[in-house]
Amino acid sequence: MAATTLRVLLIEDSENDAALAIREFSKAGYTIISERVDSRQALISALQRGPWDLAIADYAIPGFSGSAALAVLRQYDTEMPFIFVSGTIGEETAVAAMKAGAHDYIMKGNLTRLVPAVERELREVDVRRSRKHAEARLAHLAYHDPLTDLPNRILLHDRLQQAVLVAQRAQEPLAFLVMDLDGFKAVNDGLGHHLGDHVLQQVAVRLRSVVRDVDTVARLGGDEFALVLPCTDGEQGMHAARKVLHALKQPLVVGGHSVNISGSLGIAWLPEHGSDSDTLLQKADIAMYVAKNTGLGIAVYSPHRDQHAHRELAMLSELRTAIEQDQFLCEYQPIVCLDSLGVVAVEMLARWQHPRHGVLPPGDFIPLAEQSGMIEPLTMLLLDKALTEWSQPGAPPSIQIAVNLSVRNLRDPNLPDRVADVLQLRGVPASALALEITENLMMADPAHCLTCLARLRQIGVTLAVDDFGTGYSSFSYLRHLPVDQLKIDRSFVTGQTTHNDAIVRTMIDLGHKLGLRVIAEGVESAAVLERLRELGCDAAQGTFVAPPRPVRDTRQWLALRMQTYAAGPD
Ligand code: C2E
Ligand code: CA
Ligand code: CA
Repeated sequence: MAATTLRVLLIEDSENDAALAIREFSKAGYTIISERVDSRQALISALQRGPWDLAIADYAIPGFSGSAALAVLRQYDTEMPFIFVSGTIGEETAVAAMKAGAHDYIMKGNLTRLVPAVERELREVDVRRSRKHAEARLAHLAYHDPLTDLPNRILLHDRLQQAVLVAQRAQEPLAFLVMDLDGFKAVNDGLGHHLGDHVLQQVAVRLRSVVRDVDTVARLGGDEFALVLPCTDGEQGMHAARKVLHALKQPLVVGGHSVNISGSLGIAWLPEHGSDSDTLLQKADIAMYVAKNTGLGIAVYSPHRDQHAHRELAMLSELRTAIEQDQFLCEYQPIVCLDSLGVVAVEMLARWQHPRHGVLPPGDFIPLAEQSGMIEPLTMLLLDKALTEWSQPGAPPSIQIAVNLSVRNLRDPNLPDRVADVLQLRGVPASALALEITENLMMADPAHCLTCLARLRQIGVTLAVDDFGTGYSSFSYLRHLPVDQLKIDRSFVTGQTTHNDAIVRTMIDLGHKLGLRVIAEGVESAAVLERLRELGCDAAQGTFVAPPRPVRDTRQWLALRMQTYAAGPD
């Protein structure tokens, strides 16, 4: 039973017959709201006043007819149950009525069938309505993004194509914008996907609020959006882009957290940058990529950047594949204690064995991974690889392995857990792992880093400030960092001059005052190594000691060195 109150429209010339029908419903426990009509005009106005749950019609009505009533009603409501209740209906007429869209017919002499028939029809209309609704929803979903309800990529393509045709015919300008949010991944990782979704929804609302009704705002997927702006030239397109950035800048509150979000926008327009939708999409995408990489926020497509951006885009998809297929190689560079000259650690340095470009240094792919959110899977892959290779049977147990982290890794609140998991999986004690974080990056985001570093240290991992001297760390700030080691940047060490000598001495003293071990990198000569020892530096690495090499070579080097020093190091 759908409801206890039924709104029944009676198409009936006899008041008596109408009352009899209503009595059937009352007997079954329904409260009836009804209206009796017996002309086309009355029916139409009753339908307009609706809604009605069902209609019951006599077949023969003077000056009107049941089948005419049915035809009128179907113009207003294609679903409403319609049942003939008639004394005179013959079987043939009944069949014709059903064919015309009546749901049932009941003899006036057999009214007990009425309520069950109505109940069955009401149930069926419910089913039909929800199926229709579901179908409509599916059709909508095929072209809209379920999270933001914005047009999706498919509909965007269609709209852009249409807009291009219209603009070309009318010789009007058209601007197309692609936007990618900056730092959205950190938001997602930090607040969880649920709140991340809220952020995207609010971004969608803001985007809609800054454009006109004729503009299309679409979600391309992830944190990427696109805007089609008809009758908009380059200048106005720039203006719209600035409005978008301004709207995004306003603080955004989700789940009680205030979130700062920004975006990078790429712009391309008709006819300068392309004459079809695919080209505009591609060019705006390249411009967006430039905006992101340069940190400019907004970039207009420009052909001379094209080649460069193309290469980077290609590299980006190759990097994704490289991570999936593990095309990386780990090299290990020994770090020696300056007192005993014994090896205290090896630093893992990553290489990409690119299928076409050969072996690439980290500078060619780490920044790319950082910008594209791939640094997290890459770091975990490399960490796992290094621990697996280094912890194989026969590995010297007392030698630590140092792995470089990107500061982006520290924004991932799950990093400490992930590191602990890998250590456990590979059976390596936390004390055997050191993690190095570049100084200037750490200073860029101290609050985030602090919590993450503290938790890593709790696990028992050694922490080092890398490239020390290149950043802006103040003495007082360093004191609050939960770290164990300072690595003096190689620019101060290699080719040590008197000027550098004073700086290096100061750094070593500073490190020692803070209770940190000081390691010098980039030692390329015996003289520098000797000077560092005089200055009280704790450890050193560099090509003079040994260059970074694959695991087997570094192992061999180690074995040889152990033999040499087993004979009696000083
Ligand atoms: P870094 O941590 O400062 O690593 C030391 C760099 O100095 C390495 O360059 C190494 O090959 C080089 N080097 C070693 N000895 C000498 C020497 O005597 N003289 C000179 N001039 N250079 C020397 P590489 O391998 O190109 O790595 C560059 C940077 O890439 C690293 O600097 C590190 O910041 C980053 N990196 C390397 N592997 C990874 C990784 O797995 N993850 C992350 N996030 N960054 C990495
Ligand atoms: Ca390092
Ligand atoms: Ca370094």
